[in-house]
Amino acid sequence: MNKKKLAITKFLIPFESVTSCNRNLGWFTKVPKAPPDNIFGVLDAYNKDKSKEKVNLTVGAYRDDNGKPYVLQTVREAEKRIRCKNMNKEYLGLLGNLNFNKLTFNFALGEDNKFLKNGRAALCQSLSGTGAVFIAAVFLSTFFPKNKVAYVSKPTWGNHISLLERAGLCVKTYRYYNTEKVAIDFEGMLDDINKMPDECIILFHAAAHNPTGFDPNCEQWQQLADLCKKKSLYVIFDNAYQGFATGDAERDATSIRIFAENDINMAICQSFSKNMGLYGERIGCCAFITDGPAETEIAESQLKFITRSMYSNPPIHGARIVEEILSNVDLKNRWLQEVKKMAERMRSMRASLRDGIVRAGSKLNWDHITNQIGMFSFTGVKKEAVAKLKKDFHVYLLNSGRISVSGLNSKNVEYVGAAFHKVTSV
Ligand code: PMP
Repeated sequence: MNKKKLAITKFLIPFESVTSCNRNLGWFTKVPKAPPDNIFGVLDAYNKDKSKEKVNLTVGAYRDDNGKPYVLQTVREAEKRIRCKNMNKEYLGLLGNLNFNKLTFNFALGEDNKFLKNGRAALCQSLSGTGAVFIAAVFLSTFFPKNKVAYVSKPTWGNHISLLERAGLCVKTYRYYNTEKVAIDFEGMLDDINKMPDECIILFHAAAHNPTGFDPNCEQWQQLADLCKKKSLYVIFDNAYQGFATGDAERDATSIRIFAENDINMAICQSFSKNMGLYGERIGCCAFITDGPAETEIAESQLKFITRSMYSNPPIHGARIVEEILSNVDLKNRWLQEVKKMAERMRSMRASLRDGIVRAGSKLNWDHITNQIGMFSFTGVKKEAVAKLKKDFHVYLLNSGRISVSGLNSKNVEYVGAAFHKVTSV
């Protein structure tokens, strides 16, 4: 062994001694085990099930009619074009791809919107919708001057509560859903918002509410905007399904645009996981509406400060795909057609499921399945029936009765319909 090597090995501690005596694990072994994620727990059970008939209705990702993941043609085309450009892999910067940010904001607020034109949008690329909500929550928990209380709908996407709490906000709920009527509880919602303290934070799902699939209509959004204004609430819009909800991206932005028109203070959290199928690319945007360029500059300086200490620079590829699609009229139009087709397939599966349950002999009313929109349906099936669906029929869904409609296809929908009837008719 030469002299230099010997000098280094002198400082290496044998592995066994590191684990057995030198590492004080006393505190570490007291770390409690975190509860399993609701969705991934069911997914585990599905994966272990050996039945050929098993059906997975939990996963929040689009599947085609063969039950396979789907990569959009326009995404493939965008990737081809990007490859031809031979771009470098330099850091994007703390706010991400600035052109992507602008295109994304315009997608939500509409081309030529007054906010971007007048420097009234502080924009930051995010790690998809989850990252966007987290950035917005960290910003608000640090700077929102009044009540650091954020209200979310009951029920809501489970991760909202964890994200907002981890960011330092206190989370409370407002009524949203009437279990008996299997419908939106708009009166309850208004009542609860009226009772909130002024100047607190409220989170809305912009379209395709997860998990219920019920959204307020246009008039109701206007009423909500008036109420939020009256009470000076700060609104976070979670916009994870634009285009994917009704198949019409403009229509799915109605809620956000009504609030923007009414000059409500808000942050908009966007995701391209569902509508572009870019789940694993982790691409989204967090946007704050401001009063003007001076406020925008300050807000963006803080957004940079937040991302710098979280992950520094965001990933490049997903932003380039979205940028390529949104900045090219022809490609964008083709993409919108693809989104429409995905939404239409899900809508047709809703009708097939409802009809299948009725055809199997159910006398119950299943119209809510087709009245809801988007990827999820709150079926109204109770916990005990859900357990039977899993055990006796190998149909996997959440205990709340929520299904992901995209897990249905022309081959399994009849089987699922019959199973739903059997577990709800006893
Ligand atoms: N918000 C809602 C309401 C969602 O349902 C989801 C995905 N299930 C997200 C945000 C975040 O998804 P992602 O981080 O993949 O964009």
